[in-house]
Amino acid sequence: MIVAEQKPMAEIKELVAPYKKVLILGCGTCVKTCFAGGEDEVAVMASALRLAFKVDGKEIHVEEQTVERQCEDEFIQESAPAIARNEAVLSLACGAGVQAMARRFKSTPLLPGVNTTFIGVLEKPGLFTEECSGCGDCKLAVFGGICPFTRCAKKLLNGPCGGSQNGKCEVSAETDCAWHLIIERLTALGQMDNLRTYIPPKNWRASLAAGPRRLFREDHVI
Ligand code: SF4
Ligand code: SF4
Repeated sequence: MIVAEQKPMAEIKELVAPYKKVLILGCGTCVKTCFAGGEDEVAVMASALRLAFKVDGKEIHVEEQTVERQCEDEFIQESAPAIARNEAVLSLACGAGVQAMARRFKSTPLLPGVNTTFIGVLEKPGLFTEECSGCGDCKLAVFGGICPFTRCAKKLLNGPCGGSQNGKCEVSAETDCAWHLIIERLTALGQMDNLRTYIPPKNWRASLAAGPRRLFREDHVI
């Protein structure tokens, strides 16, 4: 999932301050799962903003809505009537959701209410970890399903740096050494031979490093 966290309230207040009627728009998919922008967070944010502006003696009308996914036209068109009633939208979706909305609603200011952080998993309640950098050329089969591009601090492709201690990365004692995990996993799978072949430096052309990417599925064109 895409992991995001809400911006500090002071920053949100500053973004919203120029407007008197604001729609807070949540997204019911990734940001809901990471507690940044689902229905519950929209309700809490709306109350917090109303209270914060009341304390400042400023009148503001805050409307709330959550759509299933802000990154898809099919869902965002549901918000068109609410957007028409408001001067601006505070979106609690990821950066893709905010931009999908901006594309569709050209004359409405779109304010990002969250910081989009990474592609990750829920490791345990309350802890999300980054697992994929979206490199565009997945090599997880070689590494037993653990991504050294993302999870090794030095992005090493041909074995560990030798600095790990008790399975933890030398760069951060809170982070598992990706290579410790890769070796454990390949041993369990009986696939340690995968590491006998030299892995050349990664070609980052398929990644964001070569500019924004597009994925065109001709078979889905109507
Ligand atoms: S190899 Fe690339 S696509 Fe696969 S998990 Fe790692 S960063 Fe993501
Ligand atoms: S300790 Fe492990 S994860 Fe950390 S930089 Fe070295 S090989 Fe990579």
